[in-house]
Formats: sequence, structure tokens, C-alpha cells
Amino acid sequence: MRWALIGASTIAAQYMIRALRAEGGEIIRVVSSSSERGAAFAVTHAIPLSGVSVEEAVADPRVDAVYISTTNEKHRPQALAAIAAGKHVLCEKPLAMSLADAVSMVRAAEEKDVVFATNHHLRCSGSHRAVRALIRDGRIGRVLSLRLHHAVHLPENLQGWRINSAVAGGGVIPDITVHDADVVRFLTGEDPKTVVAQMAASGLGKGVEDSVMSVWSMPSGVMVMSHESFTHPFAGTGLEVHGTEGSIFAKGVMTQNPVGAIELVTAAGREPVAYDPHDLYGEAVRRFHAAAAGHGEPAATGWDGVKSLAVALAVREAALTGAAVDVDYGGAK
Ligand code: NDP
Repeated sequence: MRWALIGASTIAAQYMIRALRAEGGEIIRVVSSSSERGAAFAVTHAIPLSGVSVEEAVADPRVDAVYISTTNEKHRPQALAAIAAGKHVLCEKPLAMSLADAVSMVRAAEEKDVVFATNHHLRCSGSHRAVRALIRDGRIGRVLSLRLHHAVHLPENLQGWRINSAVAGGGVIPDITVHDADVVRFLTGEDPKTVVAQMAASGLGKGVEDSVMSVWSMPSGVMVMSHESFTHPFAGTGLEVHGTEGSIFAKGVMTQNPVGAIELVTAAGREPVAYDPHDLYGEAVRRFHAAAAGHGEPAATGWDGVKSLAVALAVREAALTGAAVDVDYGGAK
């Protein structure tokens, strides 16, 4: 699979270039809005070609797929250009700035019959899969509630548009709540129904929220409590799932790396749970390559990206209005 990177981004540099290559992908060009940054990025990462034109990149007949990791407001036009050119698309979350925009991207890919995936990495991790297996195997009985702790301290090199630009899609809700929405959907197999929330700017956010706490109800009655922040240096991350017969404590697993520890607690006592420590992004790429070759679906589809965005938008609306908000999935499958 031959790739074009759209976006000379940190996530591409830190994780995705390695993951694409490790899974047999060849990166043949990169697009940046700055010719200097694009050229420097190409040299640093041994990418043969750089340029400033998305249209030119997607018109390249050698390109099979694009990975879009620009700021959020650019995802939609860039994805639509790639889809129109018949390229498969792996798009960063949040897919777009609005639900209607995200739906339009996924529908366009369906009409053109190209693979469209959302880069929700957490559902690709061995730890989250092990938690899901415990739930599915009935090890904790009937699930009652989930608690997600995803309050981190935003690294200094990422303290740009995420904390000061609503126009670029900044704020912790589009950045991290979308991931947590995907995790909850992945673990429970359900789509959150109604949310209440409060948000704050607690030290980093300028014009956008940097912290949010929300409570979601699931169609089955399962309750979810979710906390995302950019301002917590020592909080650690974690995921708990509580059931009638046991509880799962997964500490340090809301992360980009295959780390953290899982413990199952039941009447029989405490038991560490092993999991496969494969690369999260590599797994996403592996599934994408397979889907593009006609085998199965990507790990997180476009509709998964639409749904995680829908939950995040509902959380923000609930925080803004103080009202309970029913999640509008915009007709997502
Ligand atoms: P960056 O800020 O690193 O990159 C975003 C854009 O900013 C780039 O496309 C680039 O534009 C521009 N840029 C990069 N470096 C500079 C610089 N030094 N000066 C000026 N502009 C610069 O963002 P991230 O990599 O953190 O995030 C990109 C996307 O990926 C977002 O949508 C985010 O939500 C998502 N993401 C997803 C993760 C996941 O695990 N799925 C993890 C992290 C991010 P240009 O391309 O035009 O050069």
C-alpha cells in the first residue's frame, strides 16, 4: 500500500510513520501547508516527495491511500478531495467540526467505494481488548457502570491550537472525549443515549475548554462517568468497569503505548490480567491494509468516527446549556 501523508504533524512523526512502515506501507509523499516545513519533514522522515497541494498529491496515480492528520477543520475538505480521487482514507479524529460534515465524508467514501477509517487507537490496544473479552465472557456479570479517567497534562509541544483555537477544533472535548466515546462504544457494544456535563478552562485553555466531566446513560441502563483534561500532571489514566459479579481496574491504559496494568476483582479475589502488548497504531494500519485488500473492516470505521464525534458534540452542548442532551447520531449506521 502506497501512502500520502496529508499533514506534517506530530502524530505522524511520533507514531504513524513508523506504524505505516512496520505494516508494509510505503510513504511516497507528504503534504504540508508550508513548503519549508513539508520539505524538512520529508527529509527527516525519508519521504521522497513533499508539496503544498492536496489535489496534486491525490492525483498521483501511485498513491493508494492517504493518512490525514492536519488540524481538525481541514479534515473534511482534504478527505473529500482524496475520496473524489478514488483514494482510501485513514482520517484522524475528530473526523470533522460538525456531525453533518463527518456524515458527508463517510457517505462520500461509501459512494466512491473506498475504505474510510477513523484513527481511534485505543480500541486497537491489547489492554482494551482484554477488558472487552472479560466483559463478553461474563467475568463481571451484568455490567453496571464504567468510569473513565483520561485527565493528562498536555505536553508543551502540543500546547498550540488544541488550547487556543476553536477554529482549528481545539478543546479537550474534540481531542479526548471523542476517544473515550469510542472506548465506551467498543467495550459495551452500545451507543450512549443521553449525556450531562460540565466543562472548565482550568489553566491552559484560552477560549476553549481544557477540562470536562460528563455522565452518560446507555440504552441498557449502564451508567458512564468520564473525565478528560489537559491540566492534570499526576492524575494518571484509567478505566474501570463494574458489574454485578466483579470489577475490572485497568490503570494507565488510556494512552498511545501498549502499557498499563489490568486487575480483575471478584469474590474469588484479585487477579492480574495479561494482554498482548502490540503497537496500537500498527494494529490500526494492519486492519486498514486488510480492509483495502477486501478483507473485513478497518478497526474503527467512518461511522465509528461519526458516532464518537456525536457523543463529544452532545457533551459540549450539555456543558454549554446545563441541560441533559440526547445524542444525535445524524443517521449513522
Ligand atoms: P500538530 O499540531 O502536530 O499538527 C497539526 C498541523 O499543524 C500539521 O498538519 C501542520 O500543518 C501544523 N504544524 C505542525 N508543526 C508545526 C509547527 N512547528 N509550526 C506551525 N504549524 C505546525 O497536531 P497533532 O499531530 O497533535 O494532531 C493532528 C491531528 O491528529 C489532530 O486531528 C488530532 O486530533 C489527531 N491526533 C490523533 C491522535 C490519535 O491517537 N488518534 C493523537 C494525536 C493527534 P501542515 O501539515 O500544513 O504543515
